[in-house]
Amino acid sequence: MRRLSRTPVLAAVAMLGTSALTVSLLAAPAEAGPRKTRVSASLSATATNPGEVVTLSGWVKDKGKQKRKVVLEQKIASGWRTIGKTRSAKDGGYGFTVPTTWFYSTKLRARVKPTRKHRGKVSRAHKLSVVPAYTPLGSPDSWETLGESRDRWNPCRTLTYGINTSRATPDAGTVSTGIHNTIALVSQATGVRFKFAGETSSNPLDRKWKRKDPDIIFGWTTDAETKLDLGPTTAARGGYDRTRRARDARGKLIWEAMDGGVIYDLTDTATMNATEFQQLTLHEMGHVMGLGHVSVADQYMTPGVELYSLPLVYQAGDLNGFSKVGLQAGCTKVVRFHRKTSLERVAPVATTLD
Ligand SMILES: [Zn+2]
Repeated sequence: MRRLSRTPVLAAVAMLGTSALTVSLLAAPAEAGPRKTRVSASLSATATNPGEVVTLSGWVKDKGKQKRKVVLEQKIASGWRTIGKTRSAKDGGYGFTVPTTWFYSTKLRARVKPTRKHRGKVSRAHKLSVVPAYTPLGSPDSWETLGESRDRWNPCRTLTYGINTSRATPDAGTVSTGIHNTIALVSQATGVRFKFAGETSSNPLDRKWKRKDPDIIFGWTTDAETKLDLGPTTAARGGYDRTRRARDARGKLIWEAMDGGVIYDLTDTATMNATEFQQLTLHEMGHVMGLGHVSVADQYMTPGVELYSLPLVYQAGDLNGFSKVGLQAGCTKVVRFHRKTSLERVAPVATTLD
């Protein structure tokens, strides 16, 4: 992995946007004598492929006639996360369709919310694995981090992305399709949700940040016009720029990415077909999400031209790496040094590829 700039630790101190404040109503305090609740749960499968229907269903028993609020919870490294809501029927039955849109291997359970008359209760947990329908190539061990300490985005946020097609080659339609397809595969591999913010006039990795910019930007330039090296052997660079101090699910200090993207050399992508452009983008998005180069040629994070021979899906090491920076690894929490400010540093923008 080559690093562009190793001049970190700049002393920029910036106001952070208001981070998501969740206001939660406290459950009514347990009064004397709320009745017991029992809940059962069973899962219709223990392993599945994306898009398959899996249900978690069971019964709530509380000797009442009230329909009870039931939530579906998934265990990720930072704790139990609510991923579904329903109400039990009059006879106590309830059921959830479990999300199977991304690759995970986690526990699931149902939680019955307390009422004034009845206590809350959680069901037994059951494990579900969502695995690819294809056989990924290579070893799950074939992955590396880009930064030194598992730098990554907060996987519990929805990340926005925009495309600056003003100078895009080979053409705006081809690049848009390749980028959307790649984002869908990254979302499937990480569990991170992405939202397309549309066309942007900004460029990625140029250190001119505007508040309204999407989190991740795709843009085009030439080697002569950028300080990022897009020389003869480099078709694009991907990564993130600004980062801030945060803690991972285990409380360890990491750098959380704030801005990132992919800058393409428009003279190189001009001669690419749709497949090659997406292959290049699959590699660069690995960097954007915090993955570094590997020394084997059967993964998308290879720095070599071998990636242009791979099928258009992430491989075993890529997928394992994505799981370590994705939702299953848990939410990150920004560290606030002084009230709402936090130190920033410019992370190395890495990536070399021809
Ligand atoms: Zn690279």
